[in-house]
Amino acid sequence: MTDTLAARSLASVWHPCTQMKRHEAEPPVAIARAQGPWLHGTDGRRYLDGISSWWVNLFGHGHPHIQAALTDQFARLDHVMLAGFTHAPVVELSERLAALTGLGHAFYGSDGASATEIALKMSAHYWRNQGRPAKSRFVGLAGGYHGETVGALAVTDIALFREAYAPLVRLAATVQSPDARNARPGESARDVALRAAAALEAWLAEHQATTAALILEPLVQCAAGMAMHDAEYLRQARALCDRYEVHLVADEIAVGFGRTGSMFAHQQAGIRPDFLCLSKGLTGGTLPLSAVLTTDAVYAAFYDDDVARGFLHSHSYTGNPLACRAALATLELFEQTDALARNGQLAQAIDAACAPLTAHPRVRHARRQGMVWAWDVETSLPDFARRYHRHAMARGLLLRPIGATVYAMPPYVLDAEAVQHLAVNALAALDATLAEEAGATAPTEERLP
Ligand SMILES: *Cc1c(COP(=O)(O)O)cnc(C)c1O
Repeated sequence: MTDTLAARSLASVWHPCTQMKRHEAEPPVAIARAQGPWLHGTDGRRYLDGISSWWVNLFGHGHPHIQAALTDQFARLDHVMLAGFTHAPVVELSERLAALTGLGHAFYGSDGASATEIALKMSAHYWRNQGRPAKSRFVGLAGGYHGETVGALAVTDIALFREAYAPLVRLAATVQSPDARNARPGESARDVALRAAAALEAWLAEHQATTAALILEPLVQCAAGMAMHDAEYLRQARALCDRYEVHLVADEIAVGFGRTGSMFAHQQAGIRPDFLCLSKGLTGGTLPLSAVLTTDAVYAAFYDDDVARGFLHSHSYTGNPLACRAALATLELFEQTDALARNGQLAQAIDAACAPLTAHPRVRHARRQGMVWAWDVETSLPDFARRYHRHAMARGLLLRPIGATVYAMPPYVLDAEAVQHLAVNALAALDATLAEEAGATAPTEERLP
């Protein structure tokens, strides 16, 4: 059964973020069903979903509350185009997101990269409508990741994803990351943030006339390898964007919805961005949906008798009622389960269980922000990530290191058994991987999320 599905998949499915030839040695794992934090293979084995299926799942798979909402919605209205029409789920979701963020205008897309595209286009178009068309360029942080469509690639600073497409991309500028691991001896995370902010200021002072927006991932640059920074950077960036008349785009596609401990990461800095990009956890990991939230000021700049001053962007499935209902059910679960407070307790339990991993002699920069853990491993294995992943999967645990950074971003529903399973097998997989160091040879390895 597994063999059949894997083989048929390789014959017909082009898998994402994958050199398909690698699957000759290691076929994809066929999953038959999923419940809570567990994925169940067609071979009868189970795997703890330690990375929430690429950072999308929040309350576990197959949650009955989301299921019931989807069933109810499907019986009422599956889909209707959003140009010229509206419906209850999209209105209610927009109202609730506005109440949560103070950003009162929601534009919808279908995935994270399209949210990035929407935010960038809106920002540049805003400046054009303001009579300042020269402000059409963007700046991002070193190691930043904002998706992989051609426009989003321009602000994604991950060479492996971008190199082949360089001729297609109008590359954005990059300023230094406030990654706390860049601390010099005696420097705190806040000191690093202030140093990076000074570099941002120098850049903005020179380029403000042609810059529409700064885009960043607040608190955790996930695809960079869970690079974490002090919230002070966000306060500084907000002040600098105000001073130099540049929009601040907060890409919370990965870090939104409680991942960093607060509902949204930027809220820990007490700031409000001009644009907020959301996706991934927005539907609890059930359906593709993204949203860009923005301010009255941005909205007003498009509001006119002239059609061409409007935001003439669309996707066929914009505001899909099923996806919006899944998002509403997800927001209800935050309230019903008091998720943020409970996550605080769960995080402490995971910290305690993972103490031996954190104290491992080969681990550097063990760190956590909310429900995101990362451990940098000192290893000579260039293909550490693939080997570790294999060892973890053999132990019933889905973890996929980025380079030599092991990280966990689990769903919010781990019970005591699942916490132990995560901690024990993450450590065992590390020791098994490091045991292969002697005599191992491999080509230079890429860093894939
Ligand atoms: C995943 C991600 C994206 C892209 O989202 P897709 O749905 O994969 O297109 C953009 N920004 C960040 C920060 C992400 O983590």
